[in-house]
Amino acid sequence: MNHFLIALLTMFQVLAAPPSTIDSAPDVPEPGSIEGIAKATTDPHFLSPWVSYLPQSLSVVSPQKFLDRIPGAPGELVDSAKAYAYCRALAASSPRVRVFTIGRSEEGREILMLAIADESGIRGLDRLKAATAALADPRRTDQAAAEKLIATARPIYYFNAALHSDETGSTEAMLELAYRLAASETPMIQGIRSKLIVLINPVSNPDGRDKVVEWFYRYLKGKTDRASLPRMSPPYWSKYAFVDINRDTHQQTHETTKAVHRMFHEWHPTVVHDLHEGFPFMMTWNGTGPYNPNIDPITYSEFLEMSFHEVQVMTAMGMPGVSTWNFGEAFSHLYLDSVAMNHNSIGRGYETWGNGTAETLQRILPKSALSMEWYRPVPPPSADVTWSARDNLNYQETGSLAILDYTARNSKEMLRNFYRKGWDSWRKGLDQPPYAFVIPEDQGDRTRVAQMVGRLLAQHIEVSRAQSSLSSKEGNYPAGTYVVRLDQPYRNYAVDLLTPQNFPKRGGEPYDDVSWELPAHYHLNVIPTADATIRDAALTPLKDEPHPAGNVSGSGPVFILQDTGQEGLLAARYRLAGYEIEIAEKSFRVGERDFPAGSWILRSQDGLLPALRNTATELGLDFVSAARAPDVPRHKAKTPCIGVWVPWADTDSIGWIRYSLDQRKVPYTYIRDEDIRAGLLRDHIDVLVYGNVDLELAEQIQGLPKAWGPMPFKKTPQTPSFGTPAESDDITGGIGWDGLAKLQSFVNDGGLLITLGSGSMLALEGGLVRGVRRVSGGVPRSSTGGGSDAAAAAMEGVTRTPGAHVRATFARPDHPIAYGYPVRTTLFRQNFPLYDPPRRWLRMAYCTTCLDGPLDRSSIVVEWGDREGSPLLVSGQVWGEAGLLGRPAVLDMPAGKGHVVAFNFNPFHRDLNRGDQRLVWNAIINWQSILGQQAVTHTSPLEDTE
Ligand SMILES: [Zn+2]
Repeated sequence: MNHFLIALLTMFQVLAAPPSTIDSAPDVPEPGSIEGIAKATTDPHFLSPWVSYLPQSLSVVSPQKFLDRIPGAPGELVDSAKAYAYCRALAASSPRVRVFTIGRSEEGREILMLAIADESGIRGLDRLKAATAALADPRRTDQAAAEKLIATARPIYYFNAALHSDETGSTEAMLELAYRLAASETPMIQGIRSKLIVLINPVSNPDGRDKVVEWFYRYLKGKTDRASLPRMSPPYWSKYAFVDINRDTHQQTHETTKAVHRMFHEWHPTVVHDLHEGFPFMMTWNGTGPYNPNIDPITYSEFLEMSFHEVQVMTAMGMPGVSTWNFGEAFSHLYLDSVAMNHNSIGRGYETWGNGTAETLQRILPKSALSMEWYRPVPPPSADVTWSARDNLNYQETGSLAILDYTARNSKEMLRNFYRKGWDSWRKGLDQPPYAFVIPEDQGDRTRVAQMVGRLLAQHIEVSRAQSSLSSKEGNYPAGTYVVRLDQPYRNYAVDLLTPQNFPKRGGEPYDDVSWELPAHYHLNVIPTADATIRDAALTPLKDEPHPAGNVSGSGPVFILQDTGQEGLLAARYRLAGYEIEIAEKSFRVGERDFPAGSWILRSQDGLLPALRNTATELGLDFVSAARAPDVPRHKAKTPCIGVWVPWADTDSIGWIRYSLDQRKVPYTYIRDEDIRAGLLRDHIDVLVYGNVDLELAEQIQGLPKAWGPMPFKKTPQTPSFGTPAESDDITGGIGWDGLAKLQSFVNDGGLLITLGSGSMLALEGGLVRGVRRVSGGVPRSSTGGGSDAAAAAMEGVTRTPGAHVRATFARPDHPIAYGYPVRTTLFRQNFPLYDPPRRWLRMAYCTTCLDGPLDRSSIVVEWGDREGSPLLVSGQVWGEAGLLGRPAVLDMPAGKGHVVAFNFNPFHRDLNRGDQRLVWNAIINWQSILGQQAVTHTSPLEDTE
């Protein structure tokens, strides 16, 4: 027995009640494992007896044998290929393990999952899956049948690792856990194996994992001085999102999310447990409240009890720094694990302490982690700590074992609660209003309505269509109207998605969005009905997202598209790129029909008709014939060359712009910092879109510190996964002042620059336009909440909209950006800097008689607030609303021959606020009109014959 083990034994005798066993019996430790683990652990307090050895097995391949080292050894990381190879070796050598492929990443990598149970559990997987599926739907499983099922069913416990790719520890923790569950014969593990099915997704985002592993070996290996570490993460973890990959549950845009959702609806796991690294030494999540009233209350007591079990067990083992409760608020359920919360299961997770590198580092813990609290009975011993990858793994795996043991011992009650939650949700829809939601199809854009319905269907919320006309207390609706009956197991989630959120005003600082109401995001009307007779209506259940086809009526020679706010117009413009389109600047009338400003006029052109037909069918747009072009002022709308600038310093939010354009097959050029430095923008780009970035002004200009450079992000034999979706010889240095001057030339020479969210700082504060001043008062630049009540109190009165739906008014309803919108509308806003309306000039220094010049409200296209007095808030919560009212939401400011259109919000928030996107589409489609070019001056009827 080595000194370490003696120290360990002594510690448990002194610090805590001795655990039931420190010796491994009946397991025999695999040779070398005790020593290897002890050596990689920096302090015996950071180890539990459960994970202090690997059980020896004559048949099952251990990770130590496979990797030739213990998991969590310093200075090493497995990539997805190696992790999967081990999973397959494990499954091949143990009848207690099976491997499933649950998806494929954007870059084509497999997403693999392990299932672990005793032999009879593995043989009975299909039966056990059928049992949880039956428990998930109380309409087909009455209470007696449920009790019968529960007697032989098992909870399914799902672990999700490596979602955030720079949180590197969980993959190896889960590989070791999988082996331990398959090979150990301790009574606790036998209990887990015989009473549960454990699912493990060891690399939930393999594209990011491989980039991070290569990054580690290329830039970080061997470096142990944290102060002088270079950037610790590659610029991309996935094709589109970075941290936001964990904000994708409602919309399911990423393959990682889709894979987990498919898994969920196939297995109906009782628990979905996501492994993150961000807090010392282990925070087991549940949130401080306010809690979301649309989650079954049983869940809240369940997840608190589970977390306290982990705190209690690990504290008793003498492991310091295990805490719960004081993290986030659990109002929003938009994370990966939320698929469980939103579907009557339990979503939870850990934040353990990760180094971001596999090397052992000297760390200074945040003060906030060091106090003894009721939710943290034993804080870390001191602020200074030497921390290793194995320390991190020890906490993750010990906590996981504790909660699996808990679940095994409470398996029947947990299954019963799962069934009860589905029952409660279904009964609420039967017994209390609303009994259904009615979604009229004719709301100006049938496609957008269908897209929202598609989101519900993807969540397994049942949606039907009325077979004939429908009437309820609230109104009459034609055949084809969408209906969401609420007597269904996911009624609570339907209510959560389709009604406004009400985050309590005194609820502290939220962690993320406070509104996700789909009708507000999609600018659609959804009507709750208190009329129970809606259940008597003949309805056809929908299986897939509908795709309404538009049509072309008549044969010309002129075709007109009525602008009713369709989001498909940008895609349509590019499908019809070869054709001339004119856009009406005022409303007009043809025959009996009124056409608002923004409507399209297409005069007779070669090959137009078939192209129109294709576009109409694909995008759900209707074109009507006219004998001649109407007499209305209009402008030409040539397709611009779009550039999307993605600074290397922050690729996250802008990824969603790329996603939106890719989905619509709209061509654009990916612009890197070095492309801007090189100039020539105006030669290639007409409209440059610069999205929201979580960077201050200087960081937006200077980018990543040059001291780290050169940092190539390029495919090489050693780094085959680098270079996607864009490559670089050096990602440091940003655009620099030279680049800013090039941007200024781009605008001055007649380019249109569109800036979104905090990206607008660059234009408004960087001096690309003049006359705008940032409102002082400490508004954070973005929504990264999770602060304490004290922090929230300090913010009292400060204007904050941390992901809320608020009202806005078009100050210039005649501006092309307003096409398709009513004068008063709803927009989604996170926390961004606020700006005063521009002034013609700002006061000179020391001038006492010449205060600021007159306001120039002419550049305000949209302002915050409802001019007619409706409350600012639509859904979520706002603080300090007075600070927002009347201030610019969208500015259109000339500069040289060009213009800057600056948004004070982000219309591309995670592909959710689809109704806001048309504002940007309008700016792109009408770019020449905004620049003051291409007006069709004559308004007399045109000759339409060729
Ligand atoms: Zn994370």
